[in-house]
Amino acid sequence: MSQEVKEYQMYIGGQFVESESKEKSQSICPGDQKVLASFPKGNAADVDKAVAAAKETFENSDWGHVRNSVERGKLLREISKSIRERLDELAEIESLDSGKTITETNLIDIHMAADTFEYFADLATQIYGEVLPVPADVLDFTWREPLGVCGAIGAWNFPIMFNAWKIAPALAAGNCAVYKPAELTSLSSLELAKIFDQVGLPAGTVNIVTGPGRSVGQAIAEHQDVAKVSFTGSTEVGRNILKSAGSNLKKTTLELGGKSPNIVFPDADMKRAVNGAMTAIFYNGGECCIAGSRLFLHEDIYDEFLGQLVERTQKIKLGHPSDWEARMGPMVTRDHQKKVLSYIEWGKKNGLKLLCGGNIPKDPELSEGNFIEPTIFAAEDNQLKLCQEEVFGPVLTVQKFKGEEEAIRLANDTIYGLASAVWTQDIKRAFRVAKKIKAGQVWINQYMIVTPFGPHGGYKQSGYGKDLSKYCLEEYTQLKNIYVDLSEDEMLVFYD
Ligand code: NAD
Repeated sequence: MSQEVKEYQMYIGGQFVESESKEKSQSICPGDQKVLASFPKGNAADVDKAVAAAKETFENSDWGHVRNSVERGKLLREISKSIRERLDELAEIESLDSGKTITETNLIDIHMAADTFEYFADLATQIYGEVLPVPADVLDFTWREPLGVCGAIGAWNFPIMFNAWKIAPALAAGNCAVYKPAELTSLSSLELAKIFDQVGLPAGTVNIVTGPGRSVGQAIAEHQDVAKVSFTGSTEVGRNILKSAGSNLKKTTLELGGKSPNIVFPDADMKRAVNGAMTAIFYNGGECCIAGSRLFLHEDIYDEFLGQLVERTQKIKLGHPSDWEARMGPMVTRDHQKKVLSYIEWGKKNGLKLLCGGNIPKDPELSEGNFIEPTIFAAEDNQLKLCQEEVFGPVLTVQKFKGEEEAIRLANDTIYGLASAVWTQDIKRAFRVAKKIKAGQVWINQYMIVTPFGPHGGYKQSGYGKDLSKYCLEEYTQLKNIYVDLSEDEMLVFYD
């Protein structure tokens, strides 16, 4: 990205525009605090305009009609192609804006966004109802219909991916959309807006409104003309979304926080499991909803496993988001860095054993960034704050267990239920544990794989509803039932 501060505008009704208030926000690189760009600080008036544009297109054009499904698929495929063509540029913008390493954005995030648009391009013509075998002389069938205007609100940790996860299925199903990216990481969504425009999405089909959660986010969640809100963010804000969405009983999908368990049995392939434990907590600097932030080790392998884990963790190279050698970047903001450090200080003062990390790195080259050393604590009590609350940073707690039942009990002892993993060569044990874990995702001998093909979403206070996969299309459609009378008999009459 060049040194000059880029100026962005929002995308409403097919136009690139300023906010009604003309106010601006800035994007600041978490690696060095340089100002990268400015973009509009939107408000409820901008949401009104965006929703009106989306409604106009939905109600007064062919966009959502089934006869347009091939065309919708083609446009989604064009978006995917354009994202791939701009891979290097988008990866750089995403990294500098969010602090994610260039390795992660260039090798994973941008591809995942493109893959998601491609996947839902293929599904655009595959959304249909069923004929139901009613035991009477009637034909009963269902239509899957679009909802209308779908609102969506994203978190800051996987910005371009969340945009794709919510916009692609909404459009495939024939809806129009209003998307609010997190104010900390809005740039990739504003770049996507340029792609939406270039490929020729009809004006109003997708609208990108940037700005704070309390104004723009809340206005989307409350809006009377928004039929559905898909939210990715914290459990706390998820509760507010639910209240706001009650205004017109809009459909909600809530992808919320996590405190995911990662269980290793003594027969696991240790090298793979150590790799998995590191990916689980240090990928994206631990700023991951599905982070495996609670590691449970069987007592027979506890010492050996921890020895390898700590040794390798101390070698993780921290670096500027643009550094191809870096394996962990900075925290998204100074405030977030402080919040994560405060959890670490709590751990140090409350009897947890610090095994590595626990500080701001001393390397002077990192002094301008919001860095934190990858940190591991040994913990004995699962009720401790550090074992229960989502830290959202590179902080792992490790606990010892004796048997399968204890591991499952500890794993489920949390308000969250987003993800989990089990490492063992015993296939029966793997399935037994997977069955008993209360989480929307279980990896067996793996951690972190996410694809557009599989559903993503939580149990318990990690939310409900699914992103991705064919299942998420249920979240973006409504079912209409049609009865056709085929009987030759007189209709049953109750009245003279
Ligand atoms: P957050 O809840 O603070 O914000 C998420 C989004 O909601 C942002 O766009 C924000 O501007 C908006 N918002 C804030 N207050 C709002 C309000 N009152 N009304 C409407 N919108 C509002 O979360 P965050 O800090 O951006 O992200 C971190 C959290 O997100 C973590 O808890 C993480 O686990 C969770 N997360 C969950 C998933 C998942 O798929 N389950 C994925 C990523 C992140």
